[in-house]
Amino acid sequence: MTSLVAIIGRPNVGKSTLFNRIVGRRAAIVEPTPGVTRDRHFADAFWRDRDFTLVDTGGIDTAGVEDSLGDAIRQQTELAVAAADVILLVLDGREGLMPGDEEVIRDLRRSGLPLLVAVNKIDSPQRENAAAEFFRLGIERLHLISAEHGRGVGDLLDAVVEQLPEADETEEAGGRVAVAIVGRPNVGKSSLINRLLREERSVVSELPGTTRDAIDTPIRVGDREYLLIDTAGIRRRGKVDTRLEYLSVNSALKSLARADVAILLFDGPEGVTAQDAHIAAHMVDAGVGCVLAVNKWDVVPSERKDVIRFTQELRDRLKHVVFSPVLTISALTGLRVKRIFDLVDQVASERGKRVETGDLNRFIEKVTERKPPPSSHGKEVKIFYATQSSVFPPTFVFFLNRPEAIHFSYQRFLVNQLRRRYGFEGTPLRLHFRRRTGSKGGYPSSAK
Ligand code: GDP
Ligand code: GDP
Repeated sequence: MTSLVAIIGRPNVGKSTLFNRIVGRRAAIVEPTPGVTRDRHFADAFWRDRDFTLVDTGGIDTAGVEDSLGDAIRQQTELAVAAADVILLVLDGREGLMPGDEEVIRDLRRSGLPLLVAVNKIDSPQRENAAAEFFRLGIERLHLISAEHGRGVGDLLDAVVEQLPEADETEEAGGRVAVAIVGRPNVGKSSLINRLLREERSVVSELPGTTRDAIDTPIRVGDREYLLIDTAGIRRRGKVDTRLEYLSVNSALKSLARADVAILLFDGPEGVTAQDAHIAAHMVDAGVGCVLAVNKWDVVPSERKDVIRFTQELRDRLKHVVFSPVLTISALTGLRVKRIFDLVDQVASERGKRVETGDLNRFIEKVTERKPPPSSHGKEVKIFYATQSSVFPPTFVFFLNRPEAIHFSYQRFLVNQLRRRYGFEGTPLRLHFRRRTGSKGGYPSSAK
């Protein structure tokens, strides 16, 4: 799991402007998402050789539930604290210090997470005087920025990157795989968890003081151990009113942020729905490995019990996760439930796979020779070289002369080529495109 940096703040302070500024056109685009529109509140960012996932918590749609749930910022804060590694609080330098600001900062400090505070809309040096009152907050280092113009954003990112946990801390060191079970209400998530927990000796003996209600539950399947994420939440949710899709998606987001692999459950008799596609999109955004499990196979009518057709339907309707393995199961009867974990293992290992730089570059050279990136405004677009910068999920950086000119369709082409050559079944891939001027290190073929 890459580290998560959460942008929080009151409405209109400029969170999404900052998000877009950071993610920008260099946004790592991820997987093909044709035909599906969704909020972009989760994206990859790349700064000074570090990857992180940026969340604009304000971008999470609370429309329609605001009345019943009240304070949006409190929820954002909760969400951020639950999932984030670094918190980036944005304040409004035009509006000035607001009464709630100090309280939010106090709460955030209590969380113990690294906290960066940015005063936004400081568009010019002259405006810095207006920020004077913010120094009252006693923040050691206030970042005076203009998200709109980019002022101060580089320094802010330097500070963000400084606060990221060491890469190793966020990656599995061959330890147990953290598994989230996600899916819309009633697909059988809690049934699956209950089945797993009921299995004899499936619950790994826990530390004293922890209970079965712990948020995460270590389980053993065969001789392997896993950590089931947010087990308590799923079981509780099964019982409470889940009319608000917002809430269930929100909870799924939280658990995805901590998972290595997510099992997306479907309701076999009902088939794939739009909400399933929505969750699948979040899985890819979160960078987790994906296993697709069609549940309630025991009650799928026999004339529809055609695994190949079902798999095809899934792949057709869920373009985001076409690369994922599919399994038909029954949480009720236990059919193939243990098999899921073979797939979880495979996917977890693909998600940690490294490609050797020499091989990668020979391959990319061949690929770009056969099909170079389309030129832009009559100018050649040249990829000089590529490297895999990280794993969990596999992330590739391409260095080229005009990163802004790489089209979505060409990115998709590269992703497909990488998959064809190296596999990566079940794991999302990340591509970054960075500017590199000069011809040093270029592929000979692209220099012709
Ligand atoms: P959010 O609700 O916190 O996501 O805020 P938005 O990003 O939607 O921005 C709210 C408003 O503030 C928009 O009209 C932006 O154009 C404006 N804004 C954002 N950043 C800046 C900035 O750096 N300077 C100025 N002057 N306006 C900004
Ligand atoms: P959740 O909301 O996703 O946690 O779903 P639940 O686990 O509460 O299951 C919803 C309903 O589907 C319950 O009535 C379960 O008994 C039923 N169910 C779950 N898994 C299966 C299955 O494999 N086969 C059948 N026939 N019913 C199932």
